[in-house]
Amino acid sequence: MKNNTFYLTTAIPYANASPHIGFALEILYADVMARYQRLLGHDVYFLTGTDEHGQKMLKTAKEMNKPVEQFAAERSAEFQNLADQWNISNNDFIRTTEPRHEKQAQIFWETVFKNGDIYKKSYTGLYCYGCESFKTEKDLVGGKCPDHNREPELVSEENYFFRLSKYQEPLEFLFESRPYFVFPESRQKEMYNMLKNGLDDISISRAKEKLPWGVPVPGDDTQVMYVWFDALTNYITALDYTVKGHTLFNTFWPATHIVGKEINRFHSLLWPAMLMAAGLDVPKQIAVHGWMTVDGQKMSKTLGNVINPLDLIEQYPLEAVRYFLMREIPFENDGNFSYKQLVERYNGDLANGIGNLTNRILTMVEKYSEGKIPAVISVDEGLIHFLTKDVWPAYLEAMSNWRFDQGLVAAWKFVACCDQLISDQQPWALAKAGKMEEVNDLLYHLVEALRHIAVMIWPVMPETAEKILAQLGLEVEKELAKPLSELQQWVDLTVGNKINKGEPLFLRLTI
Ligand SMILES: [Zn+2]
Repeated sequence: MKNNTFYLTTAIPYANASPHIGFALEILYADVMARYQRLLGHDVYFLTGTDEHGQKMLKTAKEMNKPVEQFAAERSAEFQNLADQWNISNNDFIRTTEPRHEKQAQIFWETVFKNGDIYKKSYTGLYCYGCESFKTEKDLVGGKCPDHNREPELVSEENYFFRLSKYQEPLEFLFESRPYFVFPESRQKEMYNMLKNGLDDISISRAKEKLPWGVPVPGDDTQVMYVWFDALTNYITALDYTVKGHTLFNTFWPATHIVGKEINRFHSLLWPAMLMAAGLDVPKQIAVHGWMTVDGQKMSKTLGNVINPLDLIEQYPLEAVRYFLMREIPFENDGNFSYKQLVERYNGDLANGIGNLTNRILTMVEKYSEGKIPAVISVDEGLIHFLTKDVWPAYLEAMSNWRFDQGLVAAWKFVACCDQLISDQQPWALAKAGKMEEVNDLLYHLVEALRHIAVMIWPVMPETAEKILAQLGLEVEKELAKPLSELQQWVDLTVGNKINKGEPLFLRLTI
């Protein structure tokens, strides 16, 4: 059954600050893909969590005057709350301070050590505390870390090293044999070029006297693990990978990892090498998303344009925020957030678009067909052809390739088509002229069209989709349990079934 499984992870955000809109965007991308894969009928396992060790955690906790354990627990709870508030359908949430993780991260270390790929040596290097990593001269721009715009510090200590250089050729083979290992293609090329520059062995531990907040290195009390070497293993420790037998690991590994472009190299180069060193399969895919700007500018505290993801969904309905982000910010590119555009999308696409269409159709069913789904006399083959041969294929192609924005464009093409049908046929005029068979034919098509639209928007707007299905008189859970191959067929909604028209889905916003 392994072909039918899909294991999806977000990166685990570093929990030294409250959740940022950039992570909300990442977990939303993951949620949409997870829900889409479930629609396809796949057995999905969706993991997120928090990264809680390392220098920065300790430093921030000290600044806040809190024990680091308590500080980590509080920040982690904020990320769990974000997932709940944003209606994220993750199956598990892992914290790297949990015993299940620490124990297995140590087993991972021991395995790689036994395989001869971890060794100890004295080392002096330039360390960026922002990145929590040693830097080589070629990583720096003008002597400074380009990500943190500050000079790294010269640090000297005895550390354990991971033999990353040994995996140069296996990684080259991986990239050459799997052109979609990293998505999109531009990111695959970027990583391949970095790889071709040559990989150096990397330090994977810190002296405990300098950094007591980390997973202890097995068999050496003087050292703790480097935070990345510990954190990356969360993707397998959450699946109980060290446990023998029928575990989540045997069912779901390898994973599709969703990550931001700034941490791509850890996932596309270091992590596969670590897995090879432990004798495990490499990930299925690393899907790299871009960054978000606000009104064309980088988000920063100085500019005062930082968006808090929890405040955002207090100001605007969650479903509208989910729609807006997925419609406006294509997965593989950088995208822009603007409140003005959010309100325009809300009013145009949701209130006047799908909300108004749903309301019109159900109002007409109440008025002209006693609230029951009418029977059809003459089927509109053109409409069905457009839906099944144009809209659905475009939707599936886009969604399967991370282009959720284009998936929504396909669904809205069909919304526009239904609106057009109503304006062309003018059912109110037909009814006035007593042509009730024609009115019924039109309504029959429109209610079934609405069901298709609801299915298509479900990954992005699950609550709205479920409301529409319920208003059509369908049993929502039973409906969504059907495989997509069945849901995308044109079917006769049970004629005579009673609809349950509800409140309007979206009320217009005024600014
Ligand atoms: Zn840095």
